Amino acid sequence: MATKKKAAKPAAKKSATKAAKSAVKKTAAKKSTSGKSTKYVYTWGAGKADGDGSMKALLGGKGANLAEMTKIGLPVPAGFTVTTEVCTYFYDNKRTYPAVLRAQMEAGIANMEKIMGYKFGDSEGFPLLVAVRSGARDSMPGMMDTVLNLGLNDKTVAALAKATDNERFAWDCYRRFIQMYGDVVLGVQKTPDEDHEPFEAVIEKYKHEAYGSDIVDSDLTAEDNKELVSRFKTLVKDRTGHGFPEDPWEQLEGAAGAVFGSWMNDRAIVYRRKYGIPAAWGTAVNVQAMVFGNTGPNSGSGVAFTRNPANGENVLYGEFLVNAQGEDVVAGVRTPDEVSGMAEALPAAFKELMKVRAILEKHFRDVQDVEFTIQDGKLYMLQTRNGKRTAAAALKFAADMVKEKLISWETAVMRNPADQLDQLLAPVFDINEAKKATVIAKGLPAGPGAASGKIYLNADRAVAAAEKGEKVLLVRVETSPEDLRGMIAAEGILTARGGVSSHAALVARQMGKVCVCGASAIEVDYDKKTVTAGDQVFKEGDFLSIDGTAGTVYGGELATEPSEIITGLINNKKASQKTEKFQNFVQLMEWCSKATRLGVRTNADTPEQVKNAVAFGAEGIGLTRTEHMFFEGDRIDAMREMILANTEEDRKKALKKLLPHQRKDFFGIFKALEGKPATIRLLDPPLHEFLPNTEESQADLAEKMGVPVEEISHRVHELHEQNPMLGHRGCRLAISYPEIAEMQAQAIFEAAAQCVKKGIPVKPEVMVPLVGYARELELQVNIIHRVAAEVKADKGVEFDYLVGTMIEVPRGALTADEIAKHAQFFSFGTNDLTQTALGVSRDDMGSFLSSYQENDIYPKNPFASLDTTGVGQLMEIAVEKGRSVKPDIKLGICGEHGGDPDSVTFCHKLGLAYVSCSPYRVPVARLAAAQAAIAESAGAKPAKAKKAAKKAAKKK
Ligand code: ADP
Ligand code: MG
Ligand code: MG
Repeated sequence: MATKKKAAKPAAKKSATKAAKSAVKKTAAKKSTSGKSTKYVYTWGAGKADGDGSMKALLGGKGANLAEMTKIGLPVPAGFTVTTEVCTYFYDNKRTYPAVLRAQMEAGIANMEKIMGYKFGDSEGFPLLVAVRSGARDSMPGMMDTVLNLGLNDKTVAALAKATDNERFAWDCYRRFIQMYGDVVLGVQKTPDEDHEPFEAVIEKYKHEAYGSDIVDSDLTAEDNKELVSRFKTLVKDRTGHGFPEDPWEQLEGAAGAVFGSWMNDRAIVYRRKYGIPAAWGTAVNVQAMVFGNTGPNSGSGVAFTRNPANGENVLYGEFLVNAQGEDVVAGVRTPDEVSGMAEALPAAFKELMKVRAILEKHFRDVQDVEFTIQDGKLYMLQTRNGKRTAAAALKFAADMVKEKLISWETAVMRNPADQLDQLLAPVFDINEAKKATVIAKGLPAGPGAASGKIYLNADRAVAAAEKGEKVLLVRVETSPEDLRGMIAAEGILTARGGVSSHAALVARQMGKVCVCGASAIEVDYDKKTVTAGDQVFKEGDFLSIDGTAGTVYGGELATEPSEIITGLINNKKASQKTEKFQNFVQLMEWCSKATRLGVRTNADTPEQVKNAVAFGAEGIGLTRTEHMFFEGDRIDAMREMILANTEEDRKKALKKLLPHQRKDFFGIFKALEGKPATIRLLDPPLHEFLPNTEESQADLAEKMGVPVEEISHRVHELHEQNPMLGHRGCRLAISYPEIAEMQAQAIFEAAAQCVKKGIPVKPEVMVPLVGYARELELQVNIIHRVAAEVKADKGVEFDYLVGTMIEVPRGALTADEIAKHAQFFSFGTNDLTQTALGVSRDDMGSFLSSYQENDIYPKNPFASLDTTGVGQLMEIAVEKGRSVKPDIKLGICGEHGGDPDSVTFCHKLGLAYVSCSPYRVPVARLAAAQAAIAESAGAKPAKAKKAAKKAAKKK
């Protein structure tokens, strides 16, 4: 079963093999206990199936759902699944197969023969033809394409023509088969210096020879297809050095081998990395009896979503082609019709499809993405899966299905992917700007949102431009999986051809990219690198703008405005609040509050940020970085004076200038919080960040301070550090210069006193950064308490406050029990904790991050998503040790990770009181926190039920 597919990268192969080994071990264990050989083939057909929808890990998504649809009585052509365990075996055993596999596949074919009444390879009667289909757990665009009509050769094609009395159809199938098999299994593909797919080039040439013009494939006669078959075979022989395989079993094994081989092709690897799919999962292979959409005008093929996956509307949505096999619908060769058009073309089948739609939604309780074929008026279901959707559609689906009583509100919460939620907050085009702008083309609204960028016509150039920091719009005639990198890099995607189920639309929906596809009024010229619309010509690097919600393309750059959710929540805009999107969003957030155990706070430094975060539902501030306040206006001068001061007296003088600024800032923040807690971190960064580092700024400062410039440059030189991140920073500063902590504490408490006097409730939480020794904290805490007492006495008011610390160096985590004696709360500073635990500078990892991800060292960027095994373990230790001394010590996290859904889940499990993240991530964190809680109680319920059942059994 050798295949011509590209060999896997050695690195990826190795890791897959390792994981595969353990899976094989489990398989072996199963074998020894049962005494029988492992079941590698699962059949379905005629209402019965070995597997079901829950077995996606073993059967892949497609196979599991084909079994499930069969079981609920839907019309599914018979077939079988070769399990993912075979894929695992394949990579673990030098690309060979288990010895028992062939016999099991033969039994699988025999079962299909029995149900269908045809024989595989029959050269007398109607031959059983099969589709060979890949089947990962989740559909993966990088995987091998499907091979249809397998089992045809020179003899069986004649038998098929005779049995159906339809020569055109039989030879159409054969022509398609050689083309698909030649391409995906034998690797007869476009070389870099060819413009067209080789098989397509043969067809084009023939059409011109025979007809002198372009005709559609479905108009090709039997004779035409015979001639093409012969030319295709010559092409295969020329390219591969071998004749086209005639033996159906050789064809079948070749196709199955190509599916397994494609699991490790570059495209699949890129896709898995982007979506975090482990290489060890493997793919299944589905072999299914063919049904034919190309027998004539009473047949056809289509794809549909049970509801609109772009905007969520409750209507059947999809595409359909009469007299066509499935690949025609998505290939972009013929432009498909809207699926609603089927009502007229094939009314009975359409009615049947609408019935199936209702059954599927009721059964799966989710929107389905289906593929189907109609053969001579009869509908067959070929695939169903939960439909991919934009965030906007997810929100509407969930809200509607709760109203329809199809799902509970908890399920509705789970149905909104947390990592997609920010799509809803993404900007739309400014209405006034859009009115003024010229619409140069209209296409299909395939990925909602607004995007404006410089156009690039090829993926590599788009990636290069994006890496330079440009906003990029990828423009293609149509996209293919090779464009994936470019699509990831781009703000938006625009295609001239292709419908709502084209590759561009599919991928855009999944990635949440803005996309307009099938904008046929634009002409994309790859050679000249231009996009033409009417008489306007746009060169690469020129701006275009696309509105993926409306499907419009504008010339030039367009300004955007915030989404209705933002304007509704933050600006209280009534019109926005009336929109369905806004109301569904608010409803979702209410459900989140009902479910959650983990609170969400925000990282905010200004009253404005606080206001926004509170509007998004933040319960307080988890981190205020006081140093940001030192850069505003001329405050930096006072700060520099303070740093450069040679004596304590000079330093105090400079600090005194800063005090009123800080007090005012804190007052503003407390006021905006309206009594919600505010964690304020004392000065943290290395001092060099504040220093005048250029000659010019030094001269400037010297003049202001009235000292010679040499004095300044000398002091700057003195303060220079080799490794400032590990230098004189954090609480170390305030240990050397306690007056800094004193001033900051005074500013905080005086602002608190001010609030109390004005009747504004306050809850300050003073946080000491970078503590690794209990004694460090003790010294700081003493200062803070003393200043608090002084302020209270001085102002004659009472207020409550807490003092705690960040846990952000490993020593702090490891000695958390000692530290806890002096702390009322811990807040995990996971940015620094990650830097210090991994020994990696966040700012310098750019040069090796991608090779670390490619080699599967970092599953994700550890600064974006918490390294739960390493850094997480330090957190666990700190939590346990902290609680051993103070059982109810308040615990939170304030690193960037607080807005990352996976990290939020981890914090939930750790039992933290809150996560804190930037204001616009607050909804994401709330959703992730609610989902963690719901998932936990869903997991706990069956266990409880089991226990109860056991108890009941014991009583008996
Ligand atoms: P993908 O995962 O790329 O969607 P599929 O295996 O679903 O690939 O196959 C693609 C298309 O091939 C299907 O939508 C369908 O139109 C056609 N097809 C697959 N299996 C069969 C079959 N048994 N009979 C007829 N057409 C089929
Ligand atoms: Mg499919
Ligand atoms: Mg820090």
